[in-house]
Amino acid sequence: MADIRNIVILTGAGVSAESGVATFRGPGGLWEGHRVENVCTPQALFRDPELVHRFYDERRAKLASVEPNAAHRALARLDQKWPGELLLVTQNVDDLHERAGSQRLVHMHGELKSALCAACGNRTDWEDALPPETECPDCGTPALRPDIVFFGEMPYHMDVIERALARADLFVSIGTSGAVYPAAGFVQTARHYGAATLELNLDPSEASAWFGESRMGPAGTLVPAWVDSLNRNLG
Ligand code: NAD
Ligand code: ZN
Repeated sequence: MADIRNIVILTGAGVSAESGVATFRGPGGLWEGHRVENVCTPQALFRDPELVHRFYDERRAKLASVEPNAAHRALARLDQKWPGELLLVTQNVDDLHERAGSQRLVHMHGELKSALCAACGNRTDWEDALPPETECPDCGTPALRPDIVFFGEMPYHMDVIERALARADLFVSIGTSGAVYPAAGFVQTARHYGAATLELNLDPSEASAWFGESRMGPAGTLVPAWVDSLNRNLG
């Protein structure tokens, strides 16, 4: 522990589950009742923009009725106190990490509260419903879409993430199934550069075998306990 200076933390849908946000692979392998290929691919957006926009409108509206849980709050406490480098990489599109107070944070799969112009590439903060063919405030083209990274699209901030992984002494993965690449491969990159690796997840994941240590349980319990043990080491 004493040798840990630089930390990279990856979170997935499991960290928000106890806040009441559904995970990706819920009952029957569906995300809120939908097959992911019908709401989470560029082809789906092209074929049925009404459905895809409505799906993310519902997810965005739901954010008003959920709150950060003990896991989000513990990660924000760690961010505020940790004197070394720290990067929280979330696959989540909700805003619960920032609402808890995390600042050294990147959203690699986009954000519900942002709209992306398919014409000029500019981003706009977005709170309300986003119907198809909404005009971009920058270029005027009716081409705003949810700022979500679909399957087959390039995740955001990969340069920052790769640099942090190369410098990490500890890589921690929380509440993710380890099924979606490239995030699922971060543990291998971190190991390659010599980091210790820890998984905190409800069940064994597809990636568990790659981790030096795996602890199973709910994030709302495991994450505060892990953060408290790190902070005790800080004295
Ligand atoms: P996933 O649904 O594939 O996996 C969730 C993992 O969390 C599972 O391994 C499950 O065992 C674990 N889990 C469930 N409840 C938990 C709890 N209380 N504590 C700890 N772990 C728990 O999600 P993923 O791996 O993040 O994969 C998927 C994609 O889904 C991401 O790209 C993300 O953009 C999208 N997504 C985001 C949200 C969100 O923003 N909250 C919600 C659903 C899906
Ligand atoms: Zn535009």
